Amino acid sequence: MQEIPNDVVLLTDVNHNVGYAKYAGTWRIATELRRLNANVKIIECFTSFTEQQVLTLIDLYVCKQTKFVGISTTLLHGEFFLGFRNNFFAEIKSAIHKKNPNCKLVLGGSRVNDFLNVPGVDIYVAGKADISVKQLYQSLCSNTSMPERILNTDYPVSSDYFSSTTIKFTHTDDITWGESLPLEIARGCIFKCSFCQYDLIGKRKGDYIKDPETLKNELIYNWETFGTTDYLFTDELINESKEKVDLLHSIFTKLPFKISWSAYARLDLFYAYRDMRDKLLEMGAAGLVFGIETLDETAGKLVKKGLGKNRIFETLDHLSETYNGQVVMSSNFIIGLPTETKSSLYQTFEWLNSEDCPLDVFSFTPLNLRNADDGRQMNEISLNPDKFGYSSVGTEGNKLIWENENISYNESLEILNHFRNENKFSKKAHLGSGNMLGRIKNLGFTIEDTKKQFFEPDNTVDWQAMTNKLITKKINKYITRENI
Ligand code: SF4
Repeated sequence: MQEIPNDVVLLTDVNHNVGYAKYAGTWRIATELRRLNANVKIIECFTSFTEQQVLTLIDLYVCKQTKFVGISTTLLHGEFFLGFRNNFFAEIKSAIHKKNPNCKLVLGGSRVNDFLNVPGVDIYVAGKADISVKQLYQSLCSNTSMPERILNTDYPVSSDYFSSTTIKFTHTDDITWGESLPLEIARGCIFKCSFCQYDLIGKRKGDYIKDPETLKNELIYNWETFGTTDYLFTDELINESKEKVDLLHSIFTKLPFKISWSAYARLDLFYAYRDMRDKLLEMGAAGLVFGIETLDETAGKLVKKGLGKNRIFETLDHLSETYNGQVVMSSNFIIGLPTETKSSLYQTFEWLNSEDCPLDVFSFTPLNLRNADDGRQMNEISLNPDKFGYSSVGTEGNKLIWENENISYNESLEILNHFRNENKFSKKAHLGSGNMLGRIKNLGFTIEDTKKQFFEPDNTVDWQAMTNKLITKKINKYITRENI
């Protein structure tokens, strides 16, 4: 079989919720490498292949000129390696060496610290890899010595550097015409909520935002090349400031085509800037996810989500005046925030299911505390559990099994299950969140039809079966090299 001249092979995954969308981080890395003229083959759905199929992929895509095979850990959470045996990575390495003894096995992504000491791995790329991956590739090309582990602190990505970066997809990336794609407009967040484990939180206003011309060109390129008009914005917050919203409004509304998108947003900014609501609608908002997290005033204040119940209700009503039936409004709520009682959580659940609640979709998540860094930042509560009233009753890997005076981690799981089992819950929660719009659309819908699935859910549709079918089709394409 003809050898494919790949300089780099990247194995990445897709989020295992229903629907399908590409994971931005791998393409950000590939874009940097392709700028160095590297041929980069990206293979998605990594953990959906069988072990034998993974070895076949190595045989098909690694060649004498391949410098490294990279595996992203960002989506490899849940069970350890989601089913792959630890030692399987040593087998991957041997398969690589059969094709090319100089080719390295590299692990990167946001959870790399969870995967240290895996047999067969040569190099770990920790933190944001925009720059470090280029250093890695150039060192391997020139045969200079490489450190065993590259830390982000060695190659920090500055705000200026980020502003001119793009994600440039190519025709080798298996993109269907009109596919919803991820887009990174900004990184980080000006807020610093106590439960948040994103990095770059507490950044200065205006930092880490893409240059307007770069952003416009990326949108036009995707439209001309792939017919893309629908996006999943990866920003921590689309509406982090009035200035950012005004800037994006001026770019998006002047494009020669209309875009639609879903993104995370904060309610208190809509409360403070009333005209933000209609600006976001004019610039293409189709789905917004608000991290309301709690209706309990004390808990909200303690974790820096202090808008308070009355202003939350008022802001949601204000938004629904123009968003109703046009923008999917959703929010997550955390089970186990400091001082919040179980009865408060049940009351929130009742309100979410009542006619009074303008949210179209909601979800609950147990509070995530860790006892060690897994590559992502530790949140403030994990760093100071005593201060927030938590104590440890055990650990599971890096996860802290906590309890406070009102609730324990295990009780938070029970409450989550209880909510999930309530029939009424499935009415508003069957598709996860408004950020799922692009993923569902990629199963073969228009964006308007996708929105209807959130406003008037059809519970007879088997989303999981549709998702599985698409993933199987992709796997077969990789194995038969149809999408080279
Ligand atoms: S939870 Fe959201 S608003 Fe709070 S710091 Fe994290 S990204 Fe920012």
